[in-house]
Amino acid sequence: MTDLLIVGGGIMGLWAAVMAERAGIETTLVERSTIGAGASGGILGALMPHMPDRWNEKKQFQFDALVSLEAEIAALEAETGLSAGYRRLGRIIPLAKPHLRTIALRHEQEALENWVSADRGFHWHVRDTSAQSGWPDSKVTESGIVFDTLAARVSPRLLLTMLATVLRRSRHVQGKEGMEVVRLDPLSGQAELSGGETIAFEHCILAAGVQSFPLIDALRPSAPHSSGVAIKGQAALLKADIDPSWPVIFSDGLYIVPHENGCVAVGSTSEYSFNDPLACDAQLDDLVARAIGFVPALAEAEIVERWAGLRPKAVGREPMVGRHPDFPRLLTLTGGFKVSFGLAHRLAAAVIGEISGNSQIALPDSFRCASHIALMQGKQGT
Ligand SMILES: Cc1cc2nc3c(=O)[nH]c(=O)nc-3n(C[C@H](O)[C@H](O)[C@H](O)COP(=O)(O)OP(=O)(O)OC[C@H]3O[C@@H](n4cnc5c(N)ncnc54)[C@H](O)[C@@H]3O)c2cc1C
Repeated sequence: MTDLLIVGGGIMGLWAAVMAERAGIETTLVERSTIGAGASGGILGALMPHMPDRWNEKKQFQFDALVSLEAEIAALEAETGLSAGYRRLGRIIPLAKPHLRTIALRHEQEALENWVSADRGFHWHVRDTSAQSGWPDSKVTESGIVFDTLAARVSPRLLLTMLATVLRRSRHVQGKEGMEVVRLDPLSGQAELSGGETIAFEHCILAAGVQSFPLIDALRPSAPHSSGVAIKGQAALLKADIDPSWPVIFSDGLYIVPHENGCVAVGSTSEYSFNDPLACDAQLDDLVARAIGFVPALAEAEIVERWAGLRPKAVGREPMVGRHPDFPRLLTLTGGFKVSFGLAHRLAAAVIGEISGNSQIALPDSFRCASHIALMQGKQGT
């Protein structure tokens, strides 16, 4: 019997385990393959804020998470002596048309109001040109650029390695790779593993990425909707002589992210239908060509890795987090879709707070597992 069973060794499951360790909860984390085998083992690592307009509790939650991640990572880097490749680079959004500049100027004011933490403000500057020549090319910045000072990046793989190192040294968490949960019975508190073995648990956090959805759906097979879907994404890593302190470039789904290892990551496709979930194809070639349109210097860069993964998108389109309304022993921690890396530490802290009865972080209602289950059961329009 374990007090807490965590299913999944991606960014969500690892942060949950770190928070469980801090709360002193006896925990077993099972991963069917190896740590980072799912979507979290990728190459992009963009930590992008929402727009500063139409402020709401979801945007505030994400803002607080993006601000607090810097100190969380710094503390773990100090503890382990490892680097997570984190840096608050800021972000450039090219403004190709005059009306986009008008909107951006409005956001500049809204950021002054909304992008403020207890001891720090962040900015959405509208400028005529980029401070870095050719980053991006002047032909895409005819109406100027936005430079925001909140966006950051992390190396997904270095961060996972660092979290796994913390857990190997932990007192309360036991990690088990190569163990797949095939069925959950949250009423009796039993997880069945692929080899036929079972694990008894007091609580279970389901953080199995896209595989969370069939495990949740199996609990209510008559529900009219699934709890979520997989959205494929592809990205590429280019060896390029780009200063790693330069800002992320973002335009209409395209990210160009300088990393510390002499590489620039380019992402990502967003594919709702696909044949091979992990194959890279011409859609990635098109994306890299688009990136070269923004930064012609990348035309010379060698592609050192092409990578694809499946993002978990929950029925309510937001992260699916917290206690299942029908099965109090079961908590979900999934559905981070495109923003898991910026939010996972805070979502995990909220879930562990629910279990320990010491909840200090309020989740937006739309994130709550109960809101998603209501949608899944057709109780509200999807
Ligand atoms: C191309 C691409 C680019 C992206 N870029 C960014 C980005 O820049 N910034 C960002 O924040 N996000 C980004 N994302 C999204 C992000 O990668 C995901 O949202 C995130 O990794 C999901 O983490 P997770 O822990 O929920 O799932 P996963 O990382 O998929 O982890 C789930 C784990 O559970 C294990 N598992 C599954 N089923 C079982 C089972 N039955 N028993 C035991 N273990 C099981 C899996 O093996 C896996 O290791 C990107 C995704 C893609 C595909």
